[in-house]
Amino acid sequence: MVMGDYDKREKLKEFYLKIRGCQECELSRSRTKFVFGSGSAYAPVMFVGEAPGKNEDLQGLPFVGQAGKLLDELLGSIGFDRSEVFIANVLKCRPPGNRDPRIEEINTCKSYLLEQIKIIDPKIICTLGKISTQLLLNTDKGINTLRGKVFKVDSRIIMPINHPAAVLYAPSRMEILKQDFQKIKRLIDSDGEVPACEEDILNLESETTGDKQNKGEQLGLF
Ligand code: URA
Repeated sequence: MVMGDYDKREKLKEFYLKIRGCQECELSRSRTKFVFGSGSAYAPVMFVGEAPGKNEDLQGLPFVGQAGKLLDELLGSIGFDRSEVFIANVLKCRPPGNRDPRIEEINTCKSYLLEQIKIIDPKIICTLGKISTQLLLNTDKGINTLRGKVFKVDSRIIMPINHPAAVLYAPSRMEILKQDFQKIKRLIDSDGEVPACEEDILNLESETTGDKQNKGEQLGLF
């Protein structure tokens, strides 16, 4: 049975209410707010970052700091408002001092992201930076190798791009990020079908050799 729009919204809300008090890891003790994610339950595209930062932790919303401002501008450049997409993170709580997420935190939190993906069922997932890319493609490869490429995983497209915060630190990468957004727009316009001009659709099985062991388990979830 295909889930109707109303069901999707209700399901996402229900899921939020279920997990917002999460105390599964230590980050729950230092957080100010749980950052579930925001946007439309019917979004054709989901953007997945790493973890809430200081501003996100205070407001309970993803990407509301400088990186979020850039993300909003990039979305605007392809005719989207953030309310029309869904923005989430791998971790729902801020790591103190913005340190990198720990592997056990990612493993504890990832089922929340996977459930969000299952409910929203977007045609396209755009992973922002290394952490979300490696998690959702189940690979150890770096973001510089993967960014701008388009992967088909089950019936969904996953496209890694540089994290906006990283680009703020390395402005020479801005042009690449802008071009990657144009590519995202082409993918959205083709309704998740891969346009004939796209030649870098890669098969994960052959492309991500040396991957982690749990590929089947993880991809099986969505
Ligand atoms: N960086 C992220 O990865 N996520 C946010 O929500 C903010 C900054």
